Amino acid sequence: MSPENQPAAHASPGDIVCFETYDCYSNEIQREDQFASAVPWSRINPATGPLYIDGAKPGDILRVEIKDIKLNTQGVMAIAPKSGALGDVIEAEKTKILPIADGKAKFNDLIDLELSPMIGVIGTAPETGEIPTGTPGEHGGNMDCKRIGKGSVVYLPVNVPGALLAMGDLHAVMGDGEVVICGVEISGEVTVRVDVVSGLSLPVPMVTQGGDVMTIASAPTLDEAARAATKNMFDFLNRVVGLTFDEAGMLLSTAGDLRICQIVDPLMTARMEFPLWILDRYGYSMP
Ligand code: CA
Ligand code: CA
Repeated sequence: MSPENQPAAHASPGDIVCFETYDCYSNEIQREDQFASAVPWSRINPATGPLYIDGAKPGDILRVEIKDIKLNTQGVMAIAPKSGALGDVIEAEKTKILPIADGKAKFNDLIDLELSPMIGVIGTAPETGEIPTGTPGEHGGNMDCKRIGKGSVVYLPVNVPGALLAMGDLHAVMGDGEVVICGVEISGEVTVRVDVVSGLSLPVPMVTQGGDVMTIASAPTLDEAARAATKNMFDFLNRVVGLTFDEAGMLLSTAGDLRICQIVDPLMTARMEFPLWILDRYGYSMP
């Protein structure tokens, strides 16, 4: 993610755009005798884009509504020694191909996993420099948040003119933590509506899905990420929604759920989930 990347396409606010995405191995693993170590590092975790959104200017918020995620017919998982939270007990590389059909990913003859398609990487360009698509941060990026799926709205910062939105790393299904550094990795198509929100300062990245609003934060340790996600939601409730310090803190501790997104990327990612119905009672609705 970089301001130097040339736009692959332009869109206007309100446009519906389809991103075709590779899987996190650039679609180079198609059989179980192919291993992740054979994929060059420069081909790992690609993102499609960037999309230049006309009129988006630094300080705005980019609102990305996920209208649909279409998955291809085959998912892949690849594990390796020394990688992920179980790297010290994994003895050899192993690849598993998972056929996708009838709303399920076939893990083996015993287990069919219910699909829950999500986007691992979604972000905008930073103001300066470049951030690898494997790294999460304030720009979004490789957050691996399983609540970013169909029906979600993702709020991202606009740091440069046009925002430069990019995404990839779809998962047919993934557990919180992503402990062996892969969900059911898969290529596909993501259809989004892009809008620009001006004059509003949100502690982005934020997401809404179902009955929840979420703040997402990444940091070198899970402790720091968890505290940052909590503080961001507190800031949102207090400064943006208008709850008092006491109300915001007490409601976060009773109705908020602090959860792990992933613990295997260059920075750890946590999210604080909070019920939208409480915002309703305070007369606030998300932009
Ligand atoms: Ca990822
Ligand atoms: Ca992935």
